[in-house]
Amino acid sequence: MLTSPFTFEKPTTIADAIEAVGDSGESMFYSGGTELLLAMKMRVIHTERLVDIKGIPGLDRIVLTDANEIEIGSRCTHKRIAADPVIREHAPALSTLCDNVANVRVRSVGTIGGNLCFGEPHADPPTMLAALNARLVLQGQTGVRFVHADEFIRSELETVREPDELLTMIVFPRPTGPVTYRRFKHGERPSVNVAMAWSMEATSSTIKTARVRVGALGSRPQPLKAVEDALKGRSIADVRPAIEAVLAEALDELDINDDRHGGADYKRHLAGVLLLRNAEEAMTRGKRSR
Ligand SMILES: Cc1cc2nc3c(=O)[nH]c(=O)nc-3n(C[C@H](O)[C@H](O)[C@H](O)COP(=O)(O)OP(=O)(O)OC[C@H]3O[C@@H](n4cnc5c(N)ncnc54)[C@H](O)[C@@H]3O)c2cc1C
Repeated sequence: MLTSPFTFEKPTTIADAIEAVGDSGESMFYSGGTELLLAMKMRVIHTERLVDIKGIPGLDRIVLTDANEIEIGSRCTHKRIAADPVIREHAPALSTLCDNVANVRVRSVGTIGGNLCFGEPHADPPTMLAALNARLVLQGQTGVRFVHADEFIRSELETVREPDELLTMIVFPRPTGPVTYRRFKHGERPSVNVAMAWSMEATSSTIKTARVRVGALGSRPQPLKAVEDALKGRSIADVRPAIEAVLAEALDELDINDDRHGGADYKRHLAGVLLLRNAEEAMTRGKRSR
């Protein structure tokens, strides 16, 4: 099926792009087009005008800042992030994740910004970015605001972004401990995924903080609070019993949809398995870095 007619603009500044999209909801930002064009062809999305952001310089930068934070421009493709030396050195799990998103065609043109803004629940990056405690930088007609990755997705295919707000950048603290990611998928997109990020005490094998997120089984990534609390202050050697003591209770608190990826009980079970596999890897990585 063909899309309905639309006009196309290619601004060269962020301000012009924001103005061109406006807040009427009749125009949309266009990045790699991998989600948008499919949805337009299926007539699920109709828009009068596409505003292409590919000509705006600076939106595809990746840097480690003096404040020890990693900034990823929203226009970075999955392929670009996977290959970037800063990401490979400081967040190798994110590099591996981006190297395995979708297929080579989608990885080459699909962007991290488009992935987040589409709000598809069966996605890889949102879970990892929430575990990394990332903030998303949104710039609109009224200024700039930061939204935590945990709060960005409101519900299935819906985010807190206003129509005129351009996601310009994703920012997260440089990880100081092991970061791991596991997913299970039957088809193209993940059915369940789990990401874990620890910070470690400087002089011992003790976990200072743990962030654990489970994704793809509800509309947005969810924390496993009981597991995070159980890991805090724990020596690496005690990780497995600490998780096992609270796992059933933690998994029961997840909000899980029955969908074509499987029933809630099945996905809850998968989440538990993936969590323990993450923990095994994090323990190995944590011991190696001591
Ligand atoms: C066959 C296939 C398999 C896939 N498999 C996976 C998978 O395994 N895991 C996974 O995580 N994802 C998967 N995806 C999703 C893929 O990651 C996204 O399609 C891609 O990242 C979207 O980026 P884009 O630049 O093409 O977005 P676009 O299609 O250009 O835009 C998507 C939406 O985001 C908005 N938008 C884009 N950029 C911005 C911005 N900077 N600011 C504000 N709004 C913006 C657009 O207006 C639109 O609403 C798959 C997609 C396909 C088609």
